[in-house]
Amino acid sequence: MTDRFDLIVIGGGSGGLAHAQRAAEYGARAAIVEFAPLGGTCVNVGCVPKKIMWYSAHHAQLIRHAETFGFDVAMNGHSWSELKSRRDAYISRLNGIYSSNLAKRKVKHIEGRARLVDGVTVEVDGREFSATNIVVATGGFPIVPDIPGAELGITSDGFFRLRERPHRVALVGSGYVSVELAGVFNALGSETTVLVRKDGVLRSFDAMLQDELHKAMRQDGILIETGVVPGSVSKSSGGLSLHSADGRRFGEYDAIVWAVGRAPNTAELNLAAAGVTTDSFGFVPVDDYQATNVPNVYALGDVTGRVALTPVAIAAGRRLADRLYGNMQDRHLDYRNIPTVIFSHPPIGTIGLTEAEARREFGYDVKIYTSKFNPMLYALGEHKVQTSMKLVTSGADERIVGCHLIGDGVDEMLQGFAVAIKMGATKKDFDDTVAIHPTSAEELVTMR
Ligand SMILES: Cc1cc2nc3c(=O)[nH]c(=O)nc-3n(C[C@H](O)[C@H](O)[C@H](O)COP(=O)(O)OP(=O)(O)OC[C@H]3O[C@@H](n4cnc5c(N)ncnc54)[C@H](O)[C@@H]3O)c2cc1C
Repeated sequence: MTDRFDLIVIGGGSGGLAHAQRAAEYGARAAIVEFAPLGGTCVNVGCVPKKIMWYSAHHAQLIRHAETFGFDVAMNGHSWSELKSRRDAYISRLNGIYSSNLAKRKVKHIEGRARLVDGVTVEVDGREFSATNIVVATGGFPIVPDIPGAELGITSDGFFRLRERPHRVALVGSGYVSVELAGVFNALGSETTVLVRKDGVLRSFDAMLQDELHKAMRQDGILIETGVVPGSVSKSSGGLSLHSADGRRFGEYDAIVWAVGRAPNTAELNLAAAGVTTDSFGFVPVDDYQATNVPNVYALGDVTGRVALTPVAIAAGRRLADRLYGNMQDRHLDYRNIPTVIFSHPPIGTIGLTEAEARREFGYDVKIYTSKFNPMLYALGEHKVQTSMKLVTSGADERIVGCHLIGDGVDEMLQGFAVAIKMGATKKDFDDTVAIHPTSAEELVTMR
């Protein structure tokens, strides 16, 4: 005898929870399968604990800078373990809130690991459940390179398990996880090295952001080693060394963190039993409506290999529920103009096309506006952290097709501008908006 639902969601992370809860609000009989604490990557080993660590690092910077505003303060120490236990307690509270939210909406939480039996049946540790719709929202996991000694390193998951701060640390990878964790370690006092394969970090982002972040990281004392293809890791009494494929040795370090990308959680799902296809990396391809190649089997969030961000997974999940159970027939997520923040030091906010992408798409019909300045936060001291901004416009009406920001406060600045850009704002709309003074944000409406 199988339990029957309108929908079964596999994965209780950002996307799966959002979908199941929205569907239940429409009256659907929903179940969600999850073996780990509810909340998925974001809550347990992603955005949330990461932002806590970023706040801690940000405080360290503010304390160092406080004397310029007349304070007589000294950094007497920092307890990573105290921070970790407070952070863990906060996350446990969030796990509990997610659980009670499911109960409130009468979504059944089936604890365990799911695998498909066919296109309408899911097996969880020997029990079978069936549903009209199945939604795969199983997210991903951090990749560990397949090289000798790789197991001596940790991943971002291991970063959140660290009980003490390593004194000397290497982050391997050029993406946002690498630069974010590097910023945390460095601000809290670790000797920090970032090892990248090519010539820099954040290579898919606008060139201005790459250049400015490089400068800021180096100014903060982070060592960036380029052209490093990891070959092996070894351990000696002095610590860990990373040996590059071209024979160079980097280290020694107390910890090496692999931040070389993420792979989808699909290997154990038995998707083939339902005929659901995956791509060569294991991601589940979907159309604009989150549909897989099998009717009534959907996928959303990181497992689809599209923009891997929490609000994207949530938005896709809610829109799918609106469409399937809320009678909004064409409702789906528009993946263009998704704003995002990198919690580096200083932070980055970005939306839309890079300058290079815009030039490829629109040719000469692109006009760029830039601004670079020392924010007032640094007016009174010798230490300055520049803010840089770039607007990418296209066409005679100078529609804003890209906005790239790096500097203190841009993480909170971008969201409102993203609304305007999503609505099709032009440079003139920005110019017609009266500035708020004195702020850094005002530069965005006063660029010439
Ligand atoms: C270090 C780090 C920092 C990040 N920072 C940010 C940030 O600042 N902002 C942002 O927007 N995004 C951030 N992200 C990305 C964000 O966490 C993900 O995009 C988001 O969590 C994806 O949600 P999801 O629902 O697709 O998958 P997940 O949240 O990964 O959830 C998938 C769930 O499925 C479960 N599962 C897997 N297989 C099975 C199975 N067979 N049966 C049952 N359950 C299963 C897993 O246990 C997991 O709980 C960060 C990620 C990392 C790693």
